[in-house]
Amino acid sequence: MHIIVVGGGVVGITTAYELNRRGHQVTVLERHDIAGNETSKGNAAQRSYGVVYPWADHAMVFKALPWIFKQDGPLKLRMPPSLETLNFMFATLRYAWSPGLFGLNRRAMLRLGIHSRERFLALESELGLAFDGAHQGLLHLASTPEAMDTYRATCELLAELGIPARLLSPEQVRQAEPGMVGDGPLYGALSFDTDGTGDCHLFSRELARACEAQGVVLRYNVEAEALLADAKRVKAITLRTGDGGLETLKADAFVISAGCWSNHLVKPLGLALPIYPVKGYSLTVPLKDPQRAPTSTIHDDNFKVVSTRLGNRLRATGFVELADFNRDIPAARLATIRKSVESRFPGCADLDAAEAWTGFRPMTPDGPAIIGRGPRDNLYLNTGHGTFGWTLSAASADVIAQVIDGEEPAVCLDAFRPGRFAE
Ligand SMILES: Cc1cc2nc3c(=O)[nH]c(=O)nc-3n(C[C@H](O)[C@H](O)[C@H](O)COP(=O)(O)OP(=O)(O)OC[C@H]3O[C@@H](n4cnc5c(N)ncnc54)[C@H](O)[C@@H]3O)c2cc1C
Repeated sequence: MHIIVVGGGVVGITTAYELNRRGHQVTVLERHDIAGNETSKGNAAQRSYGVVYPWADHAMVFKALPWIFKQDGPLKLRMPPSLETLNFMFATLRYAWSPGLFGLNRRAMLRLGIHSRERFLALESELGLAFDGAHQGLLHLASTPEAMDTYRATCELLAELGIPARLLSPEQVRQAEPGMVGDGPLYGALSFDTDGTGDCHLFSRELARACEAQGVVLRYNVEAEALLADAKRVKAITLRTGDGGLETLKADAFVISAGCWSNHLVKPLGLALPIYPVKGYSLTVPLKDPQRAPTSTIHDDNFKVVSTRLGNRLRATGFVELADFNRDIPAARLATIRKSVESRFPGCADLDAAEAWTGFRPMTPDGPAIIGRGPRDNLYLNTGHGTFGWTLSAASADVIAQVIDGEEPAVCLDAFRPGRFAE
């Protein structure tokens, strides 16, 4: 089949790779001039298979609301909130208070995470891509005794699913991360020993090149405008080319992986995708003293900032901000991220010289991504991956390819079904 994938972020490119492996002819449409240049560019770089969880969590709502008003609090809300923001917040609350939903969705996401690790390992051994990738574990620090209690409960769930995780004492944390000599509070950590890291932007670009070498057509600088469909099937897609021209492309099937920009393509066919852009920030900088830097990836629960080692670079990331598509980078946000790194890994890098970035998590109001058949027989969706699209990209690409080929997906996709928002 000839299959068009809209979106050259990490999700679209991994989807193209899996479809090509299965013998399909694939064309990717991407409006930037390189792959992975939107949300997949400056993320926290964690492949956190054991950490994936849904956005709508009623326990988190009570914790999170006071954060809006704290200077260094990880949750921010632009005032006055737009209608889109309010709709998204109300929908989140509705899902957060749906009995049992959080637990079901969390398990579904963790199962996809387990599969993603397997698919990443296979892909990496097949292609040998250079993206500063590693699987050296992930630490969630506990800056309060209560955090350790929460981690104990998490360990039980992970054990049930066969995901390796263990609690560490403060001494064990310092042994695992000798550069962590800062004075931030520390009561221990939860260690996810088989989780990983990697530069999602480099990965997307490297994989795009590998796909091209294997015959995938990557069309950059083109904006997909509309799907042309009858009542049963999508016949073609119109796209705006770099010189302003309009082109129509036919294909046998279409996959929408356009992240935060997916809804306007699908909605005219009768299915609204309530994906909201949840903003975050990162700093990336070469290491000044690698001995003082993290060896892998650390989640500092004190500031909710993630510090990740990427080869000779540090990536520090934070904030969940509801501000629509606003791309400003306020100095105060970067100051909080710097404060977290200095409280854990002082002197590892010159953070004032870091490259600052902001991006938008393509978030659904409940949390799981949208994976499956869309509102026409030959239209498929792999989008809305929110906080964990890098982690889950390898698995979601595999399962959507299985759905397209009419196979039973390797992971149950009930929690990810595209039609659930209309139920
Ligand atoms: C601060 C922050 C930290 C994060 N940390 C992590 C992490 O540590 N681990 C993790 O797993 N995930 C993380 N994420 C989430 C992860 O980055 C995203 O889930 C993932 O990048 C989404 O990939 P995507 O391909 O769906 O979207 P994108 O990367 O946004 O790709 C969509 C692509 O579609 C293109 N496009 C859109 N519309 C059109 C159109 N009409 N025509 C042509 N092209 C189009 C866009 O240009 C874009 O390139 C983080 C996100 C943020 C913001």
